[in-house]
Amino acid sequence: MPSLVMTIAADLYALQEIDSAVEATKASLTAVEEQLGESEELIAGRQAVEEGRDALEDVGKQQRELEWQVDDLRSRLSDVEGKLYGGSVRNPKELGSMQDEANILRGQLRRREDELLDLMVRVEETQAALREAEESLTEVEERWRQDQRELTSEKGKLEGELAGLEEKRGQQSGLIDARVLALYDNLWERRQGRAVVKVERGMCGGCRISLPMTVLQKARSGMDVVQCVSCERILYVS
Ligand SMILES: [Zn+2]
Repeated sequence: MPSLVMTIAADLYALQEIDSAVEATKASLTAVEEQLGESEELIAGRQAVEEGRDALEDVGKQQRELEWQVDDLRSRLSDVEGKLYGGSVRNPKELGSMQDEANILRGQLRRREDELLDLMVRVEETQAALREAEESLTEVEERWRQDQRELTSEKGKLEGELAGLEEKRGQQSGLIDARVLALYDNLWERRQGRAVVKVERGMCGGCRISLPMTVLQKARSGMDVVQCVSCERILYVS
């Protein structure tokens, strides 16, 4: 018959429940803390925007360089054409070489203008890619900030729970004799948090062995610590 007063095993079982809750809360807290701070998604998003800006700066530089070359070729061509059709040069040989020069300049100008057109398309594409990366980063940042707020509040809640549990742990362990507490702590370590087990239908709830009648009777009295003959866990008859 279970005793009406709290037995040693019942006190230890209650302590184990607190310790299990402490362990679970600590694990949740660690998981929350690991998620606090910058996420990989956020870092990747920032990097994509940075790369997009670099690419745009690069094509912008190429565009300015080509525009400068086009202007230069146009002005040189206009000089040559001015002389060619101005009437001041009459020497056929000189006119012939000027004609050649004008043709060369026209060819160069056409090529540069074609290059510039292609580049303008690339500038537009690069601008569009950058805008997309910036929009995506804004979304990622918003989501991240929201997550961080929730995680911070979750962290506070868990820390509060942990403080409450540790206070309860202190009170509960205060009810237990130091020698018994040392045995419990040792078993908790060795049996991965299951130092105290319930006796179910005459069996140890830890290793499922059928317990000898004398052990069962002692465990039922609850007045002393009774351990399983096989796994050494503390037996609790509820
Ligand atoms: Zn056992």
